[in-house]
Amino acid sequence: MTKYNFNPGPAILPHSVFEEASRAVLELGKSGLSVLEISHRSKEFEEIIAEAKSLVKELYSLPDEYEVLFLQGGASSQFFMTAMNLLRPGSTAGYIDTGSWSEKAIKEAKLMGDIKVLASSKDKGYRCIPKDVTIDDGLTYVHITSNNTISGTQYHTFPDTPVKLVADMSSDVLSKPLPIEKFGLIYAGAQKNLGPAGVTLVIVNKNFVTETREDLPTMLKYSTHLAKNSMFNTPPVFAIYVSLLTLRWLKKEGGLAAIDKRNTKKAQLIYDAIDGSRLFDGTAQKEDRSKMNITFLLREESLTAKFLNVCNDAQIVGVKGHRSVGGFRASVYNAMSPEGAAVLGQVIKDFDRRNA
Ligand code: PMP
Repeated sequence: MTKYNFNPGPAILPHSVFEEASRAVLELGKSGLSVLEISHRSKEFEEIIAEAKSLVKELYSLPDEYEVLFLQGGASSQFFMTAMNLLRPGSTAGYIDTGSWSEKAIKEAKLMGDIKVLASSKDKGYRCIPKDVTIDDGLTYVHITSNNTISGTQYHTFPDTPVKLVADMSSDVLSKPLPIEKFGLIYAGAQKNLGPAGVTLVIVNKNFVTETREDLPTMLKYSTHLAKNSMFNTPPVFAIYVSLLTLRWLKKEGGLAAIDKRNTKKAQLIYDAIDGSRLFDGTAQKEDRSKMNITFLLREESLTAKFLNVCNDAQIVGVKGHRSVGGFRASVYNAMSPEGAAVLGQVIKDFDRRNA
């Protein structure tokens, strides 16, 4: 496997994780069983989920009131589950609209309760993050999308708010340390920085998710999953196991401060190549550029296919932009090596030299 995988998700994971996961498909440790056939009630799985939870707690330095859940249904189910569990008649949540995933979160939350869109960068083509948003302390929470996978913007500082943030961190979870006390709830589909598709990481402040509505289906209540340690029903055993391997890798790499430093350098290699070129333009406003999803365009659109061919020849995959915005997008998640980022940077530079 020599390809440089810049896919937006499902996405690159550390090669060592693939190796260990493939060994566990044949036999998990010395259990005599494949990880695919162990019971979720087994001692083996109990150890897996306990270690995965404790690594998330350790990596984020979570205070005691925070709990870690591994759920199903993707981030898309959290769009409604958050509002469904947190809103009551008469209460309102604020939403900041920073891209198509925020729009989807807003649409689903509106089905569940009263939502106020506090700010939006839609009229700016989602090229930036709205700043200085006024947040009323009467709101139940404020929802943000911390990293906008499609438009390539990211919160580098989080809003000062009198109420807790609820954040969709699908595309930058575990990529940097967080001011965790600002967040009442964080959710993320695993399939970018954490593991394979099929599991959703949810971090909840238990003091924030307190009152439980009794009129909700059991599976859709956070209280159910908190009480049952994410094992009310059969959890996605394999996806959680692979997530554990990635968490162990992340710890070995030095944790979140170290990975953030590396992510910053990797993104810089690519942004520098774009900014130093005559042919390419970055699409996001500089101060809000994402370190995870780098979006860029060719000024001469007719060169698009040629650039993608050059990438292909250089073993670079996944840089075609999202269908809704076009251009290019390089997703540079935790597991992308600095070498991979440097290769893409060089390909951009060479292409510019030859074609400008
Ligand atoms: N939010 C963001 C920011 C995303 O990037 C994605 C998926 N790309 C989603 C939500 C949807 O996630 P899922 O497919 O896990 O429902």
